[in-house]
Amino acid sequence: MTKLAKEIPVHLACPACGKTQRVKLKWARNHKSLKCKDCRKAIDLRAPQAKSLIARTAQAVATFERPGGAAGRGQAGRQGQEGGQESQEAGQEEGR
Ligand SMILES: [Zn+2]
Repeated sequence: MTKLAKEIPVHLACPACGKTQRVKLKWARNHKSLKCKDCRKAIDLRAPQAKSLIARTAQAVATFERPGGAAGRGQAGRQGQEGGQESQEAGQEEGR
């Protein structure tokens, strides 16, 4: 991960007061919980919702950093257009 990626903020909504808390991605990954600045309650970073958000942010950063992988381009619907390859199993002689 580059230096830029570590500075990317993750926006977590506090379950207690609903205010959005901003933490750096690197920080979020290294901590189990975050103290809400508004209501001072602990936000569990290991909770599924927070965890998936952190994971998704990390994934988005990884995609963004890949050359040519930004702007959602490249992964268009280009799948192999080779239909009609029938695998014929000829030459099986089982009769005796
Ligand atoms: Zn709060």
